[in-house]
Amino acid sequence: LASKLQEAMKKLKGKGKLTEKDIKMAMREVKLALLEADVNFKVVKNFVKTVGEKCTGSEVMESLTPGQQVVKIVNDELSSLMGDESKEINLKANGISVIMLVGLQGAGKTTMGGKLATHLRKNNKRPLLVACDIYRPAAIKQLQVVGKSIDVPVFSMGDKVNPVDIAKAGIEHAKANDNNVVIIDTAGRLHIDEELMQELKDVKECVEPDEILLVVDSMTGQDAVNVATTFDELLNIDGVVLTKLDGDTRGGAALSIKAMTGKPIKFAGIGEKLNDLEVFHPDRMASRILGMGDVLSLIEKAQSAIDEKEAEELSNRMMNEEFNFEDYLSAMKQMKKLGPLGKIMEMVPGANKSMMGDLDMEASEKEMNRVEAMINSMTVAERRNPSLIKNSSSRKKRIARGSGVNVAAINKLLKGYEQSKKMMKQFKGMSKGVGKKASKG
Ligand code: GDP
Ligand code: MG
Repeated sequence: LASKLQEAMKKLKGKGKLTEKDIKMAMREVKLALLEADVNFKVVKNFVKTVGEKCTGSEVMESLTPGQQVVKIVNDELSSLMGDESKEINLKANGISVIMLVGLQGAGKTTMGGKLATHLRKNNKRPLLVACDIYRPAAIKQLQVVGKSIDVPVFSMGDKVNPVDIAKAGIEHAKANDNNVVIIDTAGRLHIDEELMQELKDVKECVEPDEILLVVDSMTGQDAVNVATTFDELLNIDGVVLTKLDGDTRGGAALSIKAMTGKPIKFAGIGEKLNDLEVFHPDRMASRILGMGDVLSLIEKAQSAIDEKEAEELSNRMMNEEFNFEDYLSAMKQMKKLGPLGKIMEMVPGANKSMMGDLDMEASEKEMNRVEAMINSMTVAERRNPSLIKNSSSRKKRIARGSGVNVAAINKLLKGYEQSKKMMKQFKGMSKGVGKKASKG
């Protein structure tokens, strides 16, 4: 979707003055792009109509930068289609809040339970995960593994107890153990069926959740909209979580769900790891779809992923020239926390997929992994004092063998290290100079 729309917009941007025909053509392309991305046809029709009307207004046509104004209108309308502002989940100020996760099998509910727990804990909540999927083999175990990996407690009663009773007991358990958010992981089916819906209704009635979040797989496009509509009719959901937005089909489902159900998208799942959660921002999603980059999300992501203290220590060490291979390793780990390079690049304005063609992300990532392997094959003493390796061909050989590379690669790594060190030295000289001047003046 993104690249199609970008094409259409690029054509307009370059134009000095627009005719009605230009706009008609562009709207036709926008329409095709949206339909192709599996956006609901009613939604597309309305969208194109609104945007078309706004664009043919005299202000746009006669302005000096009509193309850019059209892009802005498309951007604003995309954003308002998805709900304009990001919406928080409903939580009680005091006492125990209950969040119920519902959705089809494989949508990502259990994973989302872990992601939400991580997110809530960052906001000083004390979450408890409750295992109410008693049907899917190993579903309880899966939730336990998720809980363990993030150190969040999981309440379960095996698969012989009714989910309604499990949910109720889960809340009691939270009371007794000082947890203030209960996240209920429910069962899904491949398709919507009455039995499941009745069960979910029963759970809802019994625990009166503060928030029912429907988890939807964004890769299912049009289907996602049908699922959302049905679940909303039966359960009156409070919000939607779109998972797997890291896949290729970004956009389609996001664009239709809010328009068709009136329910806001609150979070986006953007990967399998339990950190891969974003608060859904309609305006940023719109910009991302249009390929303008998503700098704000990138910054937020960097802030939460990088341990600030660790980063500061690292930069101090670099400035003090103590910088060694251990620091190298920890710098690379910080980078990795941000996610795959390709994903980071996508969020940088202007660096959309089509422009990244000659920048081979996979190769850079492979290179990083290789370097990591080489450092891992060094002894601690060698990492702290790289000069030990420099004059010892036996050490070089050993490291090369350990990491599956040849000695030339080790030499290259050492050279790279020397160069960075030299750079640091110059850098330090420079900043000292600045410091002196500043204190004199
Ligand atoms: P459930 O049946 O609804 O509980 O779904 P699960 O949580 O078990 O997830 C199903 C699969 O989707 C698992 O393999 C997850 O790792 C994967 N998954 C969940 N969320 C995401 C996401 O945001 N991105 C990607 N790429 N995979 C996801
Ligand atoms: Mg599950």
